[in-house]
Amino acid sequence: MKPYVAQIHAYVPGKSSASDGKPLVKLSANENPLGCSPVALDALAIAGSPNDYPDPGATALREAIGELHGIDAARIVCGTGSDELLNLAAQAYAGAGDEVMFSRYSFAVYDIAAKRCGADAVEVDDRDYAADVDALLARVTPRTRVIFLANPNNPTGTYLPREEVARLHAGLPADVLLVLDQAYAEYLEPEEDDGSMELAAAHENVLVTRTFSKIYGLAAERIGWATGAPHIIDALNRIRGPFNVTSSGQRAALAATGDQDFVKRSRDHNRIERERFEARITMLGNRGLCVVPSKANFLLVMFGGEVTAETALHAIADAGFAVRHLPGQGLGDGLRITIGSRADMDTIADVLADVTGGANALS
Ligand SMILES: *Cc1c(COP(=O)(O)O)cnc(C)c1O
Repeated sequence: MKPYVAQIHAYVPGKSSASDGKPLVKLSANENPLGCSPVALDALAIAGSPNDYPDPGATALREAIGELHGIDAARIVCGTGSDELLNLAAQAYAGAGDEVMFSRYSFAVYDIAAKRCGADAVEVDDRDYAADVDALLARVTPRTRVIFLANPNNPTGTYLPREEVARLHAGLPADVLLVLDQAYAEYLEPEEDDGSMELAAAHENVLVTRTFSKIYGLAAERIGWATGAPHIIDALNRIRGPFNVTSSGQRAALAATGDQDFVKRSRDHNRIERERFEARITMLGNRGLCVVPSKANFLLVMFGGEVTAETALHAIADAGFAVRHLPGQGLGDGLRITIGSRADMDTIADVLADVTGGANALS
């Protein structure tokens, strides 16, 4: 094994069962509680021809994405989830002796993506669980090749407004690639758009990644996409898997782009239930609980009182739910809880009130 591979800690996925094997409702992987669009389900039900390789260029899907977002399809590349594209971005632009930078408490894949191409992973201090633009810019060196920014961020849900994203880009040397990971962008209200797409359209060193895994509810199909300047798309096309998106995945994603009502319904459900759940957790403030403000489809709840995150994790599991505890990412005092159905969120809020001995009913 290469020494830099030996240094990698494999990604730890969110749990879907208790330690005794009992299945749990999975609120640990930021999946869509509404499922996916019925038209995407219909597209998945078509048998197709499994003996044939998929369209290597995902042409119809890229054209549909291009039309939806006003992007030339030639400036789009699809991937086996956006995970593949994040890894390819690091691999295409960084290697041994180079630095790949990201904020503390950001997506666990960035550290793996940096190390698996032999580059040094540089984790920069956050500010209140969010990316700190000044701190990131201050850490740029001549060896910095790639910066990853998730906006909204996972696992904290924090968000940098458009001026901050623009300021980060403006402060970078032209030969540093800024990767703006927008896995949760569809959960933002239209007026909260962070300007990433415009940066990718206008500049030579910006790549935006998106996914069908989150609001579109197609995580099992593994479909992501990225857009940026033609030379960046060319680089990723050279090193991606030639048949990296399955035929069924291409069909389902294509159908899903045509159902923006489903996307809006999912966004509305998420905002309403996230606010409701946040209100109930905030009522447990005197028990040491607080939430990190979130723009995504999950809330990071911090435990600063007598009851620890680990105790709460077990109480929530006893009630039948898996949520995410991330001590390995320095968040041992927090639980990241995906926004599920109203009934599920009410149950979890009840459990947290019970276990902390507080009261938090909404009137
Ligand atoms: C979920 C997630 C992804 C997307 O993963 P896919 O490979 O597209 O399923 C990317 N970035 C962040 C920050 C995520 O949370």
